[in-house]
Amino acid sequence: MYPLKFTPILKDKIWGGQKLEELFNKVPGDLPNIGESWEVSGYKSEVSVVSNGYLKGKTLQDLLETYKEQFVGSRVFSRFGESFPLLFKLIHANDDLSIQVHPNDEFAMKNHGTYGKTEMWYVLYAEPNAEIIIGFNKNYSKKQYSEALEQGDLERLMRRIQVKPGDCFYIPAGLVHAIGKGVIVAEIQQSSDATYRIFDYNRKDDQGKERELHTDLALNAINFKATKNSKVNYIPKLNEPIELVKCNYFTANLIDFDKKLTLPYNLTETFVVYMCIEGSLEISGGTLTVPVQKGESVMLPAGMKYPTLIPTGRAKVLEVYI
Ligand code: ZN
Repeated sequence: MYPLKFTPILKDKIWGGQKLEELFNKVPGDLPNIGESWEVSGYKSEVSVVSNGYLKGKTLQDLLETYKEQFVGSRVFSRFGESFPLLFKLIHANDDLSIQVHPNDEFAMKNHGTYGKTEMWYVLYAEPNAEIIIGFNKNYSKKQYSEALEQGDLERLMRRIQVKPGDCFYIPAGLVHAIGKGVIVAEIQQSSDATYRIFDYNRKDDQGKERELHTDLALNAINFKATKNSKVNYIPKLNEPIELVKCNYFTANLIDFDKKLTLPYNLTETFVVYMCIEGSLEISGGTLTVPVQKGESVMLPAGMKYPTLIPTGRAKVLEVYI
């Protein structure tokens, strides 16, 4: 095994644009408005395909089914079996995303037979005054919420925050949220598409249709309490991983570094994904040294001997594992 790169899976969205090409070198082909780049995915039919080394052309799912715990680590394999548990995306909101909520595992299993979705965002780019919506601005009752929604006035209840690059948000299932216009985030999430769209600003697609809303499901999935602590506070440090989020579903660290790092042994017992968010680096492990540019993601399979990260000058990565 060696550090694996994958071909990004690009998604055209009504709210997408050109910034993922401009800033992160995602080549759109004939897709006019890229909203998402799925960097590492084992989700249903949207499975990442290896783009480097002798495993080129194999899918993440092929590798997981072939190598099992050797691929993701025994702890992860015993918990998730042959379903890859996380999904890594870059998201560019060239327009406001719908206000939405994700169910937790229990609710999603009961209603859809899938996992729920807890996620995090790390802001990579934000236009001046760009905002996100995250949670309610105070505690509301279901009734107050439903009335506001009916009157098309949901935004009055929501907390808006201006964002800048480097801001990080933890979004557990049940927390209502939306990425605002002019923001690019790296999103790390449970591998699930369980999303309940609550309000879509009455937008219509090119056939004149509004997108489906999931009002009733959302009503039972939402946490109506105000949340003040979903923005992650951290103190930047050089050459030392900083923990951003540690939850039941994943741990995400930020590493800003200008010298070689060798992974600690405990991290070689599981798979680890690196998303390069600034600069460039080389990741060595097994039989390959892999160059990684800003905007690219790499997966280190479990069990690699002495994997190292070598920045080209200085680089920043998100380091994610379970
Ligand atoms: Zn979401």
